[in-house]
Amino acid sequence: MTMESPLATALAQLRRAVDQLELSENDWKTLSTPRRILEVAVPLRRDDGRVEIYKGYRVQYSTTRGPSKGGVRFHQDIDLDETVALAMLMTWKCALTNLPYGGAKGGVAVDARTLSLQENERLTRRYTSEILPIIGPERDIPAPDVGTDERNMAWMMDTYSVNEGFAVPSVVTGKPIVLGGSLGRNSATGDGVAISTREALKMRGINPQGATVAIQGFGKVGYWAAVALEKMGLRVVAVSDVSGGVTGFKSVDDVLEYSKTNGTVLGAPGTDHITNQELLGLNVDVLIPAALADSITHSTASSIKAKVVVEGANAPTTPEGDAIMNSNGILVVPDILANSGGVIVSYFEWVQDKQNYFWSAEDVRENLNKILMKSIVEVEDLAKSKKVTWREAAHMLGVARVAEAHRLRGLYP
Ligand code: GLU
Repeated sequence: MTMESPLATALAQLRRAVDQLELSENDWKTLSTPRRILEVAVPLRRDDGRVEIYKGYRVQYSTTRGPSKGGVRFHQDIDLDETVALAMLMTWKCALTNLPYGGAKGGVAVDARTLSLQENERLTRRYTSEILPIIGPERDIPAPDVGTDERNMAWMMDTYSVNEGFAVPSVVTGKPIVLGGSLGRNSATGDGVAISTREALKMRGINPQGATVAIQGFGKVGYWAAVALEKMGLRVVAVSDVSGGVTGFKSVDDVLEYSKTNGTVLGAPGTDHITNQELLGLNVDVLIPAALADSITHSTASSIKAKVVVEGANAPTTPEGDAIMNSNGILVVPDILANSGGVIVSYFEWVQDKQNYFWSAEDVRENLNKILMKSIVEVEDLAKSKKVTWREAAHMLGVARVAEAHRLRGLYP
């Protein structure tokens, strides 16, 4: 395992929090061990009759504070280590924002872009059926992540419900509205990234009005963050996807229209091309990595000129990249805080499903803002009083809550 593997990074962050909180070695053993890991084979009959077998995972890292919660990722590069790391991050994220959940993550090692709609449906249903014994509204509640969306959640909800014999909307979040989804869930992660950006700028004494932003990644998180930031009066000057980035557009919506039909932002009319590497080094106020893990590393961090980095993606920064940004005086808003808007509104969706009572968009917005602002202020206060980074403070808050819950529940038998 290299020091740049997401699991090594997540464990190093946990070790630091355990030390800073002066927790015991018993606490460390419990906190650093995933509760339950399920690895499954997911066979798929391709449209041409060939059968492929993909590896699937569901990791329930913690169930101490409630059912485990976290997304399902369809990406060719995922493996067990990364899934454990992401499930661990979900645990601290849910605890930091005080949601009554543990943490989980799952996925299938497949490039979803190579699947037809029908293949995607069959794969989603088979994966769901393989993990069926361990999911459920009181056990573990999946949601969208990289490579999955509300369509996959609809199929997961249906597969689970057909097996139960009645509709169980609360088994997954991020569903279409008509199936019990929540207003505002689609944009929630991006909305949260935008709120975190605005607050971090203010704390840095920078006026958000007219502040410039570069966003790496133009998926669910990057796009909605861009829309929300433009609404708040910031200027998004560059966006990118896996193929590269563009600058010089008037509004991100123009780029979206183009990328919907062309599958990439590259070549959007009236824009100039830049590489992802160049985007990271742009002279902007805010940089938002909203793609995959490990984009800010020892080799890319020193080029960053932004004063604030807001982690829309999960685990986009290696420890070396983090150290370089910290020593350069960059304020880093860590993933478990910056992108927590998604799971916060997932929680609202689950609550609505369980009560069969649905909220207005305004209620969702207000409650998201309330929970996120509370976490931001808590992180800022702790970072100040303990003289630690925001990442360290966020981990300390999340880890301390899980450790306390462990202690109070005790060890059975
Ligand atoms: N996949 C999202 C995350 O990483 C959302 C998880 C959820 O809503 O359960 O936070």
